[in-house]
Amino acid sequence: MPAFAAMVLPNAPLEMLATGFRWLEGPVWFADHECLLVSDIPNDRVMRWTEAGVTIFEAPAGFANGHARDVQGRLITCAHQHRALTRRELDGSITTLASHFGPKRLNAPNDVAVKRDGSLWFTDPHYGINTDYEGGKQQAELPATVYRLDPDGTLSIAADDFAGPNGLCFSPDETQLYITETGLQFASDPVRHIRVFDVQHNKLSNPRILHSVTPGYADGITCDSDGNIWSSAGDGVHCIAPDGRLLGKIPVPHTVSNLTFGGRHRCRLFICAGPTLYAIYTNVRGALQP
Ligand code: MG
Repeated sequence: MPAFAAMVLPNAPLEMLATGFRWLEGPVWFADHECLLVSDIPNDRVMRWTEAGVTIFEAPAGFANGHARDVQGRLITCAHQHRALTRRELDGSITTLASHFGPKRLNAPNDVAVKRDGSLWFTDPHYGINTDYEGGKQQAELPATVYRLDPDGTLSIAADDFAGPNGLCFSPDETQLYITETGLQFASDPVRHIRVFDVQHNKLSNPRILHSVTPGYADGITCDSDGNIWSSAGDGVHCIAPDGRLLGKIPVPHTVSNLTFGGRHRCRLFICAGPTLYAIYTNVRGALQP
């Protein structure tokens, strides 16, 4: 395992790309358009960042949070207010992929990861319907759950022993799924850590705690091509080895909520930090997306 000093670059500073938002989340890179989409949740809009500047991609946006691209490159969105996982088709129309489990409405899908077989794995905690700030207070009908949505539309419970499942990402070889637990939103001492599961035949097993981020907690996470986990944290970005060791940190002036690799070689880390979008070039590459 290389030292963290070899994973970052002494002459690549943290850059502030844009600010003036309220709370950024859900960054997703479009290499084909050289742009980043990112949710500004309390402002109920999705922004598009390019080197030329920032524009509004969608508003209102159903208080969108997490994003991903499916195996065909289409945008997948976790929409708090709509309590649904949606897909933007190539003609611009929106398809609701999942809004109910059985007869009951989902809570507020938070983040989504795509597996190479086309299945979509997403977390459904209560955060997005707990407050008007992030999506509008609504009554929960289901416990906080991690779901798997198969390409044929079948929705299954992947894990149901979370108080507040949040960010998630697969290891590059898809044998492990990392899921952050951020606990009950208003608890005095919420359970917060990164858990890891073995993935076999699209079932999760052997859950264990990988790492507890401090200060703050892990919300969004993403893997590099070597399998290290890059996590949001209260003081910036933490890089965690697959065995749970903290390898190093990138200090950021604001609490980091989410992050993703992008740029021409997937070696630029885009960082959502409260009202500000940052980026930093690293000496690693983000794991290839399906
Ligand atoms: Mg999240």
